[in-house]
Parts: sequence; structure tokens; C-alpha cells
Amino acid sequence: PSYPLFADLPGDISVSFEFFPPKSEKMEEQLWDAITQLAPLDPSFVSVTYGAGGSTRERTHATVARLVRETSLVPAAHLTCVSASKDEIAEIADQYWAAGVRHIVALRGDPPPADGGRFVPHPAGYASAAELVAGLRARHAFEISVAAYPEVHPEAVSTAADLDNLKRKVDAGATRAITQFFFSTDAYFRFLDKVLAAGIDVAVLPGIMPVTSFAAIRRMSANTEIPGWMEAMFEGLDERPGPRSLVSAVAAADLCRRLYAGGVRDFHFYTLNKAEQAYAICHLLGVRPKG
Ligand code: FAD
Repeated sequence: PSYPLFADLPGDISVSFEFFPPKSEKMEEQLWDAITQLAPLDPSFVSVTYGAGGSTRERTHATVARLVRETSLVPAAHLTCVSASKDEIAEIADQYWAAGVRHIVALRGDPPPADGGRFVPHPAGYASAAELVAGLRARHAFEISVAAYPEVHPEAVSTAADLDNLKRKVDAGATRAITQFFFSTDAYFRFLDKVLAAGIDVAVLPGIMPVTSFAAIRRMSANTEIPGWMEAMFEGLDERPGPRSLVSAVAAADLCRRLYAGGVRDFHFYTLNKAEQAYAICHLLGVRPKG
């Protein structure tokens, strides 16, 4: 297949960025530096994650509230079912609604490490993201995004069951899916075909993760195919963070360029609160500051 040159990409895409809530003042500075640098790229929304086990409830809320107060960006607050009753979730949802937040990324969540990696629903809580979506929709008219897994969630009993689960989330009221990161364009496009065939009629934004540590990516990628070309590209860079970060931006932009050639125009970036890579990738894709 042939792909457009970076120089030929007109920037006719829309981007969104994911951040995580900061743990210290220094990290807070880094986050706001990233937000300030990326804001001129006019993201359609910016999302803020919720720590494993609901551990960042206050910090996520504070970050989202500051986005509302101090920027004109559209914030999306991640929210999970872990360790929370339905009443507690309702209270959080009410606070977000009152603060002017209209977009929630609704997730089941990963269990706290103390639970040995197994998700155990709160006795008075939601047992899955689909239930959470229904609960949120019943409470407020949020726009709701959910997670999708081109290479299948590790706990799913089958590909079909995982797809059924995505359909349940959409039937419950989600209007957008954002994928787990992936490196194989084929995996993403095969998944889109299945999503369409299953009658799931929402945008499925590819979640783009620039490689920061190849060893970590390999560890985190239970189901994720790591193409041979990527192994080769990052070979010898484990101890060279500077060059690795540059190569990583180009590799991620290259993945996006292939997705663009296949018709994708909406991209979601896992920024890890670092502006440079996300900015460079967007730049290579033809996105320029607005205004
Ligand atoms: P669900 O959609 O509920 O699915 C979980 C698993 O259970 C799947 O295998 C599904 O097929 C299966 N399942 C669900 N219901 C049923 C059923 N009735 N019968 C059989 N099987 C069923 N985690 C965080 O803690 N905080 C975050 O901020 C966060 N942000 C994320 C953002 C994105 C874009 C993505 C892709 C993931 C994110 N995660 C986050 C990780 C996510 O919480 C985990 O992947 C979690 O293990 C699953 O969450 P889910 O919302 O996909 O769950």
C-alpha cells in the first residue's frame, strides 16, 4: 500500500488528548505546561484519567474543575466503578454536572493491586462499564465515551463476547468509543469491520500511545501485537531516552499516517502529560495552532 507523505497531509483531522491527574506540585506544573502547549491545536476534547481503584477521585476532579475554570477546552472526566457504590458515583456525577462538565469517559476500571488483579464489584456498585453508562445517563444528559479493545480485552471470554459488551455500552447510551493503544493498523481496521458488522454505530477513536519505554510497552501489552518493524525500530534505544523519544514521535505519527490513509480523521492521544511528543505528532500530521 502507498501512504501520503507527511508533507502532503492537509491537517484535516481532529485530535483529542488524554492527561492524568498530577501527584505533586512539580507534576502539576508539567501537566499545565502540556495543556498550555497543546491547547492551540484546538482539541475536540481533553480527558483526565481516574487512578486505579478510584485513587485519584479528588485529583481528577480538581484537574477537570481547573480546566473548566481556566481554559476554553472541553474536558472529559474519566470515571470508574471500582470501590464505589452507586450512590457515591451519583454524587460524583452530580458534582461534575454542577461544575459544567458534560462529557464522561465511563469505565469499569482496573482493580487496586491489593485485590490481586481481579475485579470485584462493590456490593452496592456497578459491575461493568455498561451498567455505569446506564446509571450516568439516567442521572444527567452526559455525553459518554467508553473503552474499546481492537485486540480484545484480556478478561473477555471471546472476541464476540467483547464486541457484545461494546454494543451493550453503546445501547446503554455511549456515543463514542476510544480504543486501547495498538500498533498494528490491521488490528484496528479488522476491529472496525467487526464493529460495523455488529451494528455498532458510533465513532471508534484510535488511542495513540507513543512508546516511552519499549520494555514497559512489552510488559503492558498482553494482547497487543508488536509488529516486527517496531522491535527493529526501537532496538538499541532502551538506554537512550532522548533519541527514543524522537523515534517514538515519528513511529506514532507513522501509525497515524497509515490510519489516515485508511480514512481515519479523529485521533486520541495518550499524552502522559508530555507536550512535546503529542505536539510533534500532530505537527507531522499537518495540524497547526489555530488563531
Ligand atoms: P467493561 O466494558 O465493563 O469490560 C470489562 C471486561 O468484562 C471485558 O472483557 C468485557 O468483555 C467483560 N464483560 C463486561 N460485562 C460483561 C458481561 N455482562 N458478561 C461477560 N463479560 C462481560 N482504567 C482506570 O482505572 N482509569 C482510567 O481512567 C482508565 N481510562 C481508560 C481509557 C481508555 C480509552 C481505555 C481503553 C481504558 C482505560 N482504563 C482506565 C482501563 C480500563 O478500566 C480497563 O481496561 C478495565 O479492565 C476494563 O474497563 P472497561 O470499561 O473496558 O470494562
